[in-house]
Amino acid sequence: MSPASAHAFATGNPLQQAVAPAASERRSCDKCYRETDQAVAKCPQCGGRLRTAGQIRALGVVLLFVGVFLVALMGAVTIFVIGVVSQAESSKLTANDTPTFLAIFALFGLVIMFGFTSIAGGLWQIVFGKRNKALKYIILALAFALLLIGSVVQLIL
Ligand SMILES: [Zn+2]
Repeated sequence: MSPASAHAFATGNPLQQAVAPAASERRSCDKCYRETDQAVAKCPQCGGRLRTAGQIRALGVVLLFVGVFLVALMGAVTIFVIGVVSQAESSKLTANDTPTFLAIFALFGLVIMFGFTSIAGGLWQIVFGKRNKALKYIILALAFALLLIGSVVQLIL
């Protein structure tokens, strides 16, 4: 089997896809990530919303910008706070303040990780035109950790 015919075998009918991209554009489900080439509005498996590769790429661009913004903003805030803390350290701060700053920096670090995950997910969607299931769970885990540390910080402050 030549590489070209192997490709045709793997993707169905490449000619038909090239001629009628709107009808046969690959869509994937928001909920269960199932992919389909059928021109249907809802996921055949779970009834969830289907997005075309183009829509997922557009969302990927948004994710990318949100991620870059988060990393840049929280990076700047972290550097600023480190500067303030290191100046105030000798005069005002006591050992009792250490857990507070650890919790706050953990929060900053998590937001930055959130940003990097968003960048990775956005790039993935732009390149592949579909979403990454693993990144979904990473984002869920990070969101949970954010909530947890956020409430710890609230308790301390
Ligand atoms: Zn589905």
